[in-house]
Amino acid sequence: MHSRTLTGKLVIASHNPGKIREIDDLIAPFGLEAISAGALGLPEPEETGTSFAANAELKAVAAAIGANLPALADDSGLVVPALDGAPGIYSARWAGPQKDFSVAMARVEQELGDRTALAQRNGSHANAYFVCALALAWPDGSVEVFEGRVEGELTFPPRGDRGFGYDPIFLPQGDSRTFGEMPPAEKHAISHRARAFAQLKRRLEDLQ
Ligand code: IMP
Repeated sequence: MHSRTLTGKLVIASHNPGKIREIDDLIAPFGLEAISAGALGLPEPEETGTSFAANAELKAVAAAIGANLPALADDSGLVVPALDGAPGIYSARWAGPQKDFSVAMARVEQELGDRTALAQRNGSHANAYFVCALALAWPDGSVEVFEGRVEGELTFPPRGDRGFGYDPIFLPQGDSRTFGEMPPAEKHAISHRARAFAQLKRRLEDLQ
């Protein structure tokens, strides 16, 4: 059994350089260095889980076992309760092979159409939230998950050209700007990702 100490390298089970850089900045104060699963030649497992947590777990565990090092993975997306949780774990896939999020946002609007037509005429919006699950796995296959959420409402048409993905239709609770209109630092202070990372950070402090 590997002891749960973290020193040196932490494998990031992502092939997205932006994500790896962001995580590297976060873990550097703990004396940890992010190394990407891609750089180690580890394959990307298929995301067959039925929840954000399950997908983050399976990616982290595969990387931890493959590299024989602790590993971190994330999974995130937009949940719309009125659409029975869609796009959810399929958030990236709704943008299609071109990764075109104007298509994904239009699909959310269209699918909400009938169900919320009345509500929208009354000036209200559909509720939605973003989720980020972060999984920290160990070479013995054990894993812990930290989940962050930010609640809000959807608004159409999309507004703002900052951020990415579904940001232009997401109004975080208590704000009149979409994530797409917010300065990145403001989004990053309240986002689902920030909240999941805050929990991970507390755990890293415990592991020091
Ligand atoms: P993944 O976790 O990298 O698979 O990404 C999931 C998908 O969820 C992204 O491609 C985005 O479409 C969406 N998503 C996750 N976080 C955000 C966010 O902060 N803003 C907008 N869209 C997001």
